[in-house]
Amino acid sequence: MWYNQNMEVKKASIYGFCEGVKYALNYVAKVKNEIDGDIFLLGNLLHNKNIMDELQKNGIKVLTKSTLEDRINSIEKGTVIFSAHGHDPKLEKLCEKKGLNFKDATCPRVIKNMQEINKAIKNKEEVFYIGIKNHEESNAALSLNKNIHFIDYQNPIIEDVNKNKVHVFNQTTLSHLALEDIYQKIQKKYPQAILHNDICHATYLRQKALDEIKEDIFYVIVLGDETSSNTKRLKEIAETKYKDKIVLLFSTLDEVKKYKFDCSKKIFLTAGASTPDSIINPIAEYLKNLN
Ligand code: SF4
Repeated sequence: MWYNQNMEVKKASIYGFCEGVKYALNYVAKVKNEIDGDIFLLGNLLHNKNIMDELQKNGIKVLTKSTLEDRINSIEKGTVIFSAHGHDPKLEKLCEKKGLNFKDATCPRVIKNMQEINKAIKNKEEVFYIGIKNHEESNAALSLNKNIHFIDYQNPIIEDVNKNKVHVFNQTTLSHLALEDIYQKIQKKYPQAILHNDICHATYLRQKALDEIKEDIFYVIVLGDETSSNTKRLKEIAETKYKDKIVLLFSTLDEVKKYKFDCSKKIFLTAGASTPDSIINPIAEYLKNLN
């Protein structure tokens, strides 16, 4: 849809909250309604500061210091909710040991990925995992077995392995373009490798919607947090595909207001899967009224 007044803003056909994010937020709200006592998150439920601030305003305690184990050990009483990104199963055991209640808001798509990885490990097959270093989802996948070979998405180096059957899994929010490049490197070394392509449907559709960017677009604006993998991948893909356009990532309306736009130009607007409408809509409104 085109807004005809002032600055022209075209929204991507698909953007913003995915099903996994909605699931995690509904899940936390449900737990909050049903359970008495303190509720703890061991870090970000998902990567959006506004959402995290809202959760804390609603009484959810967010622990951030030190390691995940230390955070659990610091809790005397209450319920731990594991984040949407997945977690090391040993953390559940630690909660049990401490007599803490725990709940799991992991996205079903991530759970499926972890189950598949476990299956390959059980069959004693070689497992590669492509992910972003220190991202919660990568850490959760790598926690499943110490023999998983990690391929750093930002600096992909393919290790030498001995076994014939090689499985390649990946974090759900990578760029489909960059993943193709990494696959080519892997296939050169391991032509028989089984490539699972675990980019989730929500991530893929938001990335494909960037194909809607036409010639006359001058600015591509991605809304979301710098810490959000899928948001950053949208920016990365837009920069790779549209070198002639100005690609910008904003997380708040204040940031947008500080930027000096040429109002005669057109904008394409998209947002990561964890960016709430409460951020997107006021920014879209602000931009279309710029003159
Ligand atoms: S981006 Fe994909 S994997 Fe991540 S929460 Fe959303 S649906 Fe799940």
